[in-house]
Amino acid sequence: MNDMNSTDMHRSAPTIHLVGAGPGDPELLTLKALRAIRQATLLLVDDLVGDGVLRYARRSARIVHVGKRGGCVSTPQAFIERLMAAEALNGERVVRLKGGDPFVFGRGGEEAAHLRALGLRVEVVNGITAGLAAATSIGVPLTHRDHAHGVIFVTGHARGDAAPLDWAALAAAAAQGLTLVIYMGIATVEAIEAGLLQGLPAATPVAIVQHASLPQQRHACCPLSALARTVAGEGLSSPAVIVVGDVAAAARELAAPRALADAGARRIA
Ligand code: SAH
Repeated sequence: MNDMNSTDMHRSAPTIHLVGAGPGDPELLTLKALRAIRQATLLLVDDLVGDGVLRYARRSARIVHVGKRGGCVSTPQAFIERLMAAEALNGERVVRLKGGDPFVFGRGGEEAAHLRALGLRVEVVNGITAGLAAATSIGVPLTHRDHAHGVIFVTGHARGDAAPLDWAALAAAAAQGLTLVIYMGIATVEAIEAGLLQGLPAATPVAIVQHASLPQQRHACCPLSALARTVAGEGLSSPAVIVVGDVAAAARELAAPRALADAGARRIA
């Protein structure tokens, strides 16, 4: 007979760590994330987690890539959750590693809820989200007392069954002095440009940053009316963040670091 009360059961339930790996540069990991990665015996890793971060895992740790790298179909979410639960109950120290922050466009909320429903404890560790890293990496402050009194993080890729994003309404908010930070916007960049032009001047500064914080980082700056043309012309692709608003004018001409020059990387802006 099991005479554990629910508090005892909760206490003895294994913990799964849902960890934000940040934008790619391992130096942007939090100390908590680093500790969780070092202690893990099993890591389930999303596409956008940089290899530099995985170097901190134990040699003996099992690393399972569950993203859709290389155009393959990604591992079904329910399978990932069942695997994590089974392994954690088996005594493995399971870390679910997600790019950026697990709770910013990372489905971390859904995953945490499902794991808790399976009787597991979930600890979430923040990571630096790509929108923050992308702006900072080109010298753009997302808020500024003179230009922007707030920030909107928004996805350019609404779920198939969700209402389409109201870009005109977002443009109206941006026109009031809010910076827009658009994730997953490359595939729909024409619609974003056309929608935002309904409420923002054509000359509104825009910056697009690809692979923020990584050696292959690239960026371009342009007026809003040239957004789609610039993305296509410069060959910018995912993962990239689009920053829209007056603060984007601060994007600086970056001196090419040696690593970039050595790799033959192209500096756009
Ligand atoms: N949870 C993540 C976001 C996942 S959604 C976070 O907090 O950052 C995936 C999107 O994030 C990409 O399409 C891209 O818009 C953005 N992204 C992630 N890593 C990035 C990087 N290093 N540089 C630019 N954009 C990035």
